[in-house]
Amino acid sequence: MITAESVWENCLKFIKDNIQIQAYKTWFEPIKPIKFENNVLSVQVPSKFFYEWLEEHYVKLLKLALNKELGENARLIYVIKMENTFGNLSPFTEKIPSQYKTNIPSQKVDLSIGNLQTELRNPFVIPGIKNLKIESQLNPNYTFDNFLEGDANRLARSAGLAVSNKPGGTSFNPLLIFGGVGLGKTHLAHAIGVNVKEKFPEKTVLYISAEKFTQQYIDSVKKNNRNDFIHFYQIIDVLIIDDVQFFSGKTGTQDVFFHIFNHLHQNGKQVILTSDKAPVDMQDIEQRLLSRFKWGLSAELQRPDYETRVSILKNKLYRDGVEISDEVIDYVAKNIKVNVRELEGAVISLIAQSSFNKKEITIELAKGVVEKFVKNTKREVSIDYIQKIVSEYFQMDVSTLQSKTRKRHIVQARQLAMFFAKKFTKASLASIGSQIGRRDHATVLHACKTVDNLSFTDKQFRKYVEDLSKKFTV
Ligand code: ADP
Ligand code: MG
Repeated sequence: MITAESVWENCLKFIKDNIQIQAYKTWFEPIKPIKFENNVLSVQVPSKFFYEWLEEHYVKLLKLALNKELGENARLIYVIKMENTFGNLSPFTEKIPSQYKTNIPSQKVDLSIGNLQTELRNPFVIPGIKNLKIESQLNPNYTFDNFLEGDANRLARSAGLAVSNKPGGTSFNPLLIFGGVGLGKTHLAHAIGVNVKEKFPEKTVLYISAEKFTQQYIDSVKKNNRNDFIHFYQIIDVLIIDDVQFFSGKTGTQDVFFHIFNHLHQNGKQVILTSDKAPVDMQDIEQRLLSRFKWGLSAELQRPDYETRVSILKNKLYRDGVEISDEVIDYVAKNIKVNVRELEGAVISLIAQSSFNKKEITIELAKGVVEKFVKNTKREVSIDYIQKIVSEYFQMDVSTLQSKTRKRHIVQARQLAMFFAKKFTKASLASIGSQIGRRDHATVLHACKTVDNLSFTDKQFRKYVEDLSKKFTV
């Protein structure tokens, strides 16, 4: 008599002969035959991910094995054991990616409810020590309370709050927070996690940087427990991955994250991502992943405006128990605009300087500190910026500076722009030339030499060079 067990056992023999032993152990041993009827074999797989993986990588082999055993009309049905947390399972069946529905005739996925039975290995725990409690890796100092609101972060902050009040239950899934360095992405990501933990202590929350995630993934491949890695991440309720731009160009990690993401999303779990770029600007990230990023909400953190900078400063000082005059706060807030991290850095060095030197925090002290900060951040000047500054200095338009005219003062302005571009950027002569009025590299080289010569021989010209130099370095 043919039973599900006997059919599957024969299939397994064939499969085992045709793939590597590790793959066999990982992907085929956990499969359980459960029913055989009308030439249809039902097998149980431990997760949705498992099913996708089999379909993506082993569909041909499965088809061969089944056909060999049961003939051309054989059919296969997957039964997925799911965690019994979500009452309504219908969206799950709908969301099975159709690209996986290939070769095997009339495949179908059945669902039955049970508990996830797979043994989980926790990549945060030293091997050998059994501990399945997942530490959330959250920093309790990053909260919503001390994430000050302003126009520049209102959307992201409110979306973060909404998500933490109802993880997985809003349309902000995934929530992607993006913005430049030091604008609060990491802070906000932690704040969401911390808030979820407070409101829903039973939920499993995990914060991880994309870099660490990648490292864990690589390790899991080396140690042959990629599968455990995946299962570990599939049981998280709120997964926060910081700086996903780090995934760019890393196809293996993207692939594994794609599957984890799908699993979590389909099961109503919350995913929160941060990135230094908007999805449209991300490079070397697979299209299918980018399209997932866009499913939920992408919220930008912009540079805080003056009012927000003042309140961030005041809040920080208040928490540190330091008093500084409004005049100094105003000065710092007006002069440090790029990001919050620098704002905080300036305050810390102000406090440090005043306590080491037993000086009061005066506007003079603040000027010194701020100057250092601003200087350090101006290191990167762009060729566009240089052209703009030089044009302004000579009171002409950038288009005039770039034009083909041979009028002496315009030629000089152009040559100065080229000279500073060479001095302050890493751009090649050719690239400088092409950006400043489409000249070739020889023209740029000639310009640099001319500026050098003229600043020795021509007093007025030397003054131009000095004035402009100051504008680029202060
Ligand atoms: P990012 O991850 O975007 O580079 P961080 O989250 O590390 O930036 O933020 C840099 C610093 O600025 C942190 O110390 C953070 O607490 C602080 N910060 C950023 N935004 C705010 C804000 N809106 N209110 C208070 N502090 C902020
Ligand atoms: Mg960060």
